[in-house]
Amino acid sequence: MGTFTKILLSAACVAFLAVKWNAPRFDPESLRGARVLVTGASAGIGEQIAYHYAKFGAQIVITARREKVLQKVVEKCLSLGAQKALYVAADMASETEPDRALDFAVENLGGLDYLVLNHIGPSPFSMWEGDVEHTRWLMKVNFFSYAQMAWRALASLEQSNGALVIVSSLLGKMPSPFAVPYTSTKFALNGFFGALHHELVMKKSNVSISICTLGLIDTDAAMDKVRSVKSRCLFGKHVTTLRRCFSVSLQGLHQRTGVPRRRRRPEHHHHGGHEAAGALLPLVHPHCDSEQRLVPFHHRLRHPELLQLHPVNRKLNSAFAMVDWWRENTQNTI
Ligand code: NAP
Repeated sequence: MGTFTKILLSAACVAFLAVKWNAPRFDPESLRGARVLVTGASAGIGEQIAYHYAKFGAQIVITARREKVLQKVVEKCLSLGAQKALYVAADMASETEPDRALDFAVENLGGLDYLVLNHIGPSPFSMWEGDVEHTRWLMKVNFFSYAQMAWRALASLEQSNGALVIVSSLLGKMPSPFAVPYTSTKFALNGFFGALHHELVMKKSNVSISICTLGLIDTDAAMDKVRSVKSRCLFGKHVTTLRRCFSVSLQGLHQRTGVPRRRRRPEHHHHGGHEAAGALLPLVHPHCDSEQRLVPFHHRLRHPELLQLHPVNRKLNSAFAMVDWWRENTQNTI
């Protein structure tokens, strides 16, 4: 072997070790006893998040509107190993109930380590026909309650070096037809928590913010919406199963939020999320590198190969397909 090859190999080994050494590690023990509030946890992704925290032995409060369903989720959390599991029924469209749910969690858990804001109100998958009332209502549920709960939780999270986890969507990054009110609420979330993140950094706050940008995942609610033939041809195989999404993504999330305080923020900024999950980019910060690799629509026509660059683009493909469909069927120019 030549000297040059040896040097090259050694350099590659050193680079590999350096990356491995610096990679945030997930320590399941860090979640044992962690105090967590998960919203929208009676179904879908929130329910699964609660089960994952439960398996790690966390103390959990879950919230949503349907009390009977929440009871069942709590029972399952306890059977899975949660140190504590409680529920509080609350309607996030109300002006007072978000605060009540938050206070319930802080009082009953004796503080808070993770606030996972995940709930969404139901919204039709159809063209917007001027229903401003629904849009206003959805804004209350999907956006204002998030801002309200985050603010109320900050003092507790500050004390515990805690984390705010915001479950958002690709539709909060690119406008798409058939989900105008939902898309608006997710854009609002991304803007609000992206900006708040900067302010927390400026204040040297202990609290980290994770904005999770999800593609289509096969929850019952989402599948109901895309069940029509038209939707199926738009989304096709781009759906990720809940099981697959969660087998990897929650770990990804806590590899970020669970890293020691000193290292947390820079890593939080610059990591592209846990791409292995395919659908979930847990910590896509407005300035992180994965977002810069999102390919704008007009590039797709000129450089289709760009879509292969990053796993997120597989998800974007479905969104592009939707835009294509829209253009073809309406002669509309977007
Ligand atoms: P989901 O199955 O529809 O669950 C929504 C949850 O929110 C339920 O627990 C529901 O319970 C609760 N909820 C609804 N209205 C509420 C209200 N007024 N007050 C309090 N709670 C309310 O949703 P999902 O598909 O799991 O989505 C979860 C998160 O992932 C959302 O933030 C969504 O934007 C994001 N996401 C999902 C997908 C996907 O394809 N599934 C894609 C991108 C992003 P109750 O009815 O009992 O209140």
